[in-house]
Amino acid sequence: MSTQALLEKIRSIWIYRVAHSMARGMDVRANFVKELEQFFSLLEQAVATGDPAWLDSILSEWAASPTQSDLEQGKNTVTALLSKMIIVTNEVARETLTEGETLNLLIDLIPIYTHLLDKATRLEMETRITYISKELVRVQQQLEQLDRTKSNFISVAAHELKTPLTLIDGYTTMMRDMLDNAGQNQFNDLLVGMNKGVRRLHEIIDDMIDVSVIDNDLLSLTLQQTTVTHILNLLKEELIDAVLERKQKLEIKRFSGADTWIFVDTERFYQALRNVLTNAIKYTPDKGKIIIDGRTLPGFIEITVKDSGIGIAPEHQTAIFEKFAQLGRPNLHSTGKTKFKGGGPGLGLPITRGIIEAHGGTIWVESEGYDEQKSPGSTFHILLPIRTESPDPKIEKLFPLEAPDEQEKEELHGQENT
Ligand code: ADP
Repeated sequence: MSTQALLEKIRSIWIYRVAHSMARGMDVRANFVKELEQFFSLLEQAVATGDPAWLDSILSEWAASPTQSDLEQGKNTVTALLSKMIIVTNEVARETLTEGETLNLLIDLIPIYTHLLDKATRLEMETRITYISKELVRVQQQLEQLDRTKSNFISVAAHELKTPLTLIDGYTTMMRDMLDNAGQNQFNDLLVGMNKGVRRLHEIIDDMIDVSVIDNDLLSLTLQQTTVTHILNLLKEELIDAVLERKQKLEIKRFSGADTWIFVDTERFYQALRNVLTNAIKYTPDKGKIIIDGRTLPGFIEITVKDSGIGIAPEHQTAIFEKFAQLGRPNLHSTGKTKFKGGGPGLGLPITRGIIEAHGGTIWVESEGYDEQKSPGSTFHILLPIRTESPDPKIEKLFPLEAPDEQEKEELHGQENT
């Protein structure tokens, strides 16, 4: 008997069995039996011509229309269906045909099923990859939307908080003046405390506004000529009291590039360095040491701020530059700006990174790890492009580019150690 005749013999029982066995395990399409009939006719054509490609189009159709739950669960339904067909073919042939007929049928069908399985695997893989890629894009968009919402929230909250805070600030100052004038300075300490709290709140709100400005790529730089030494000296002046209070040692080394006149946004760059330095003070125990050093690299000045503090775990060394990285450790939050481990809202380093990156630079940290007992320390590296050309030729005319003389250099360096 020819293979086509053998197929015709098992046709109806084959379709019935395949339809019912799959019905238990998977979602059955409404016209599944019709599709199986069509498949079987194409299988007969494939056997007659010896060309399995007859079945390609129906296979592609099946592979391209998986259900959402199949995709979510990663089920390969067409491959599973083909495997079931092979089992059913074998069973039905053994029950209906002689041993010799079964063997002849299987010999003709095996190459066709192999081709189908191979093609189905490929098609289903492609469908799955397309699905996963789309899912990735969707999740990415969701994350971006979430980040935008977060950033908008920060911006709105910061602006809303600023107005009442300014009122409180004004009234506290007025109260202080009035009580002073009335000779009632027994409230002075309380009012000084209130002023301090209000100032800290102002700083936090300003940081929130800065973060949203950076997030929305709205940070604009006003470039002016200065030297790193000059900025470091100003910074030292501001922070020296905190350093002394914590009995720490701050050393600013002389390094190549520190006296080069470069164009930076002095205020923003100062703010960036202040964040790194206040952190160094905050996360270094009393009597610890902070060393600021650096060097010139081709096209860049590298500034390093090294402390002998509690260090940073490797898994947090990238996250700390993301906004609110500190939120995971609310027990560390405090109002003290330079108090040991006095964690803030976690906005300082994201702002610093935003400022440095806006200058075309980069910042990263190196630390052996976090250990409050051993204090392995951290070193923050800042790479700043050496920009010696004025972005605006008019400014250069007003402030001609001129290196400081030796005496000026001495003055800029000031005292090296405290
Ligand atoms: P915060 O307001 O919490 O100080 P930052 O953005 O300035 O926020 O810093 C984020 C976190 O990075 C800090 O909470 C702290 O855990 C860690 N960190 C920053 N600088 C140091 C440092 N020099 N030594 C140890 N940990 C640091």
